[in-house]
Amino acid sequence: MKAHDGMYIDGAWRDADGRDAIDVVNPADGQVIGQVPAGTALDVDTAVRAARAALPGWSATPPAERAARLSALRDVLVARKDEIAEMITAELGSPLKFSQAVHAAAPIAVAGSYAELAATYAFEEKVGNSVVHHEPIGVVGAITPWNYPLHQIVAKVAPALAAGCTIVLKPAEDTPLTAQLFAEAVHEAGVPAGVFNLVTGLGPVAGQALAEHPGVDLVSFTGSTAVGRRIGAAAGAAVKRVALELGGKSANVILPSADLAKAVNVGVANVMSNSGQTCSAWTRMLVHRDQYDEAVALAAEAAAKYGDRIGPLVNAKQQERVRGYIEKGVAEGARLVAGGPEAPREEGCYVSPTVFADVTEDMTIAQEEIFGPVLSILRYDDEEEALRIANGTVYGLAGAVWAGDEAEAVAFARRMDTGQVDINGGRFNPLAPFGGYKQSGVGRELGLHGLTEYLQTKSLQF
Ligand code: NAP
Ligand code: MG
Repeated sequence: MKAHDGMYIDGAWRDADGRDAIDVVNPADGQVIGQVPAGTALDVDTAVRAARAALPGWSATPPAERAARLSALRDVLVARKDEIAEMITAELGSPLKFSQAVHAAAPIAVAGSYAELAATYAFEEKVGNSVVHHEPIGVVGAITPWNYPLHQIVAKVAPALAAGCTIVLKPAEDTPLTAQLFAEAVHEAGVPAGVFNLVTGLGPVAGQALAEHPGVDLVSFTGSTAVGRRIGAAAGAAVKRVALELGGKSANVILPSADLAKAVNVGVANVMSNSGQTCSAWTRMLVHRDQYDEAVALAAEAAAKYGDRIGPLVNAKQQERVRGYIEKGVAEGARLVAGGPEAPREEGCYVSPTVFADVTEDMTIAQEEIFGPVLSILRYDDEEEALRIANGTVYGLAGAVWAGDEAEAVAFARRMDTGQVDINGGRFNPLAPFGGYKQSGVGRELGLHGLTEYLQTKSLQF
């Protein structure tokens, strides 16, 4: 795989400050596929200075021209979509079909949506005797994870560019090649030097330096709640804006009137997709006691079919972590009906698609984000209990409700403490605000709501 041995700063690939490098490993076979430089605090500082210097020019660039650059970026992502998909398959391990259909395609839709929003958004509005200007917040420090390597970058960079912000990105150490490819795409799209900058490196070094840099006006972070909490605390102390997209433990609530087979099958597919490494995955399935045994049998059967169709986890550490959770589920008394802690293959970071029945609310596997292909099925007696269980975690990112009658599902969804709910299998919408209630985060990404995260208002009175 093609790798740059420098940082993309101020419109060019420049030598890194230090000599340390990060090996990029393909988790399907353990092969090292490339190396990128491990950025230091000095690299971050150079990048932030470049972003700060580019801010006056870019923020004063007419929105129509910013839209044109975003549109060009979208076109480059289209032209290079096969290369992107292959890169993500190599770094993350996801099956090529999934990389094409989701990892490469979603960023194209999101970049396109922000080209349109930049062109049409009212950056100026009249309110009584005031004119309110929606101005860019400034320099953005973006820190992204590896599970949707390009989507999570574009979900921050595209709205920031549309708003007139400049950016320094620190991508996940496991998927830096995709980030380098994205930097090439930004360059090809004619985005001016310094507007977008890339510093590869380790979270506690480059990531922390970026989050704490006084020249950064907004930190936008996606990843674990543990790191997000620290970034939020540091931002609070610095009186700096922060956006946090954190974990989830989303409930898939199957009401008694639902089409049970459909709800269970779509629910299993949702959890196994991307090998369970999705923050919005419906990892808790809630089923009425009268349908419970049937649902468990259907889920076990569906999971067994995924055996050869899912990729490995991103690295050996995540594989160990997920297998540890499966062992914990068994130890706490849940009943394995598919999969288990044993690695299904000798080579690669694979985990078997796993389904637990007889899971109760208090179990670790019902409360903590596992981030692997592991589904917990819980039993409820009535709708009030289902609601209590659905809302009974510290998270609130996503969810699903299934019912024979759409209005019944909507009524239940309105009582859920969560940022997104799919009704009877409703599709992902790249324009709908995405983000969490409770400890799933602060702020929203995507669409119009994602754009306004990168804006602040100035009111002029007449
Ligand atoms: P993570 O450590 O939170 O990583 C997310 C990003 O933050 C990466 O770019 C990471 O760099 C960086 N980072 C790490 N420590 C940092 C620090 N002290 N200051 C600033 N940035 C820092 O997540 P992870 O270790 O990759 O995954 C652990 C767990 O997090 C998963 O099992 C899952 O439960 C959760 N997770 C959630 C999401 C989500 O979308 N909500 C995504 C990924 C992971 P490095 O790459 O160098 O670590
Ligand atoms: Mg980490």
